[in-house]
Amino acid sequence: MKKLCGRYVLVSAYEVIENACVVFDEKIVAVEKGDNISEDTVVTHGFASIHTHLGLYPIRTTLDSYLRLDEWVRKCVWPWERYLRQEPELSYASAVLALSKLVLSGVTAVADMHFNEDLVAEAFLRIGVRGDLSVAIMSKGVYESLDEALRDNLELARKLRSSDLLKVRLGPTTPRLLTPEEFKKVVEVAGEIGVGIHTHIAEVPDDAEYLKRERGMSLKDFIEYVDLRRVSTIVAHGVWLDSDSLSALAHPNVAIAHCPSSNTLLRDGAAPVRNYLEKNVRVGLGVDVSPTYSMLDEIRAALPLHLGRGDLGFRELFNAATSTGYRALGIGSGLIEIGETADIVLWRLSEPTPDPVTGVVAFANVSEVYVMGRKIVEGGQLVGVPSSEIREFEKNVVRHRRKCLST
Ligand SMILES: [Zn+2]
Repeated sequence: MKKLCGRYVLVSAYEVIENACVVFDEKIVAVEKGDNISEDTVVTHGFASIHTHLGLYPIRTTLDSYLRLDEWVRKCVWPWERYLRQEPELSYASAVLALSKLVLSGVTAVADMHFNEDLVAEAFLRIGVRGDLSVAIMSKGVYESLDEALRDNLELARKLRSSDLLKVRLGPTTPRLLTPEEFKKVVEVAGEIGVGIHTHIAEVPDDAEYLKRERGMSLKDFIEYVDLRRVSTIVAHGVWLDSDSLSALAHPNVAIAHCPSSNTLLRDGAAPVRNYLEKNVRVGLGVDVSPTYSMLDEIRAALPLHLGRGDLGFRELFNAATSTGYRALGIGSGLIEIGETADIVLWRLSEPTPDPVTGVVAFANVSEVYVMGRKIVEGGQLVGVPSSEIREFEKNVVRHRRKCLST
């Protein structure tokens, strides 16, 4: 049995126990009072990033190119993704690098959508972090047909079906890269094999405009036609949802992945999250592609993004990153409670504070991380990957990025 003690234990974003210890093996078995605990320690549940593209980590700085989404995808993302499909080992290196940044910002579960996910899965297993993996299914773009992409995703589901650390979803990328009929078919297959869906909807106004122009469908018509509420569904972004489509997404099976950094850098707009929460639409947080792949930076970025747009505070954002994120991924409550999985983080504050939530978000470093009770970070360093290997991966991915993008 292991024990992790903190001057503060955050049961949730809204409930704090002072001078307490969490006792655990694979699951949390007790939360008890402790003595002589260092003033600078806080114990929290781990964060979930419910929308992430680990494979885009090497091109993350291209977000700051003053390009809008479609132009950025055309100029930077697709060339890199086609290159990755030729060089699958690069997906492994990219995933190790991105996961190392995520874990050292307190993330213990990541929903990733990309290519070469069998190699990405190896990176998750090496680092020991939870994964919820999907292949970016499209019938045009990086894949040539729906069948080719769906086959890859189903093969991934078959390979990982006995893993307790990794789960698989199907990843119909976005309404503009699949026909509504193809999208519906993917949701049906997900229902048949008992997995969820991970998709992008309404990151930009173009999704709704395209469906209306090409198919005479509103977003709400589309959501109902493909039957998104039928399975556990992550909808990335959801920046431009009208009230009808929002009502169609207000369901316990659906969670929106709000991605503050990428929405800001691509000038997508600000999702009216306060409005979504008031309409009982679940909202978790996703790192997506960002300059830092840090969940703390997403929480910090959300504050100014929502200023004057209903405002969001650190506690609500912390709750989105823990409890809502874990529930959206179907991994328990995301709270420090008896019987929950021991996905726990020990933080060191740079100075004492009576407000541990703000302290963690604003001035703390990750000291130890446990996933299913297994220690994956010790002394602020990954246990599974030495820093010398990280540096080699960094040099390698930069070399490939130069080759691919000539920048
Ligand atoms: Zn995305």
